[in-house]
Amino acid sequence: MERLQKVIAHAGLASRRKAEELIKEGRVKVNGTVVKELGVKVGPNDRIEVNEVPLQKEAPVYFLFYKPRGVISAVADDKNRKVVTDYFPHVEERIYPVGRLDYDTSGLLLLTNDGEFANVLMHPKHEVDKVYVAKVKGIPLRENLRKLERGVMLEDGKTAPAKTKVLSVDKRKQTAIVEITIHEGRNRQVRRMFDAIGHPVLKLKRERYGFLTLHGLSAGDARELTPHEVKQMR
Ligand code: URA
Repeated sequence: MERLQKVIAHAGLASRRKAEELIKEGRVKVNGTVVKELGVKVGPNDRIEVNEVPLQKEAPVYFLFYKPRGVISAVADDKNRKVVTDYFPHVEERIYPVGRLDYDTSGLLLLTNDGEFANVLMHPKHEVDKVYVAKVKGIPLRENLRKLERGVMLEDGKTAPAKTKVLSVDKRKQTAIVEITIHEGRNRQVRRMFDAIGHPVLKLKRERYGFLTLHGLSAGDARELTPHEVKQMR
């Protein structure tokens, strides 16, 4: 939800100040009703008209971003920590992340201003495969990884079956690198799944989201999705 005057200004119709004047003059309608107060917040599904003319929606944009560790998956942070949109200073559209990665997780994150696209991808029914590479404490036994493959009980219910693959083990340090594929998107899910089998995650990276990969990108880099990729993801 954003302030009405900001939305009008972002649509390129007026400066923030001019947008406030338009509102005070009673020339702005939200869902058919004149709004004269400045504090009103609107969302992507609200119909806004200025001088009886519907506000043109921003053209949709889609970015694939390699989020570094130590960045918040949000557009603002009350503690002034770095947020993902800080990496897009030249993008004027109001983009936001599709889902989130933890502060300490790196990897593939999509950002868009297309609310419908974001909702479709985040809906559990859509079942986008998400592939993570986790460095975990200890060397998990096959039978423990099988538990993840069958689904483990977490405090918010049993997880859907996952796929796992041990990529390497470090016997001296007693750590392992495990690839895990899930299609749910619960809060801290991968970390909680490994906690449940007694192998806490030391480092986590999302390598793949559907068919999209980080190929060619370094941490902090972004690229636009091609129209074909956007179509395929829907
Ligand atoms: N699972 C986690 O535990 N953390 C993430 O950032 C993403 C998935």
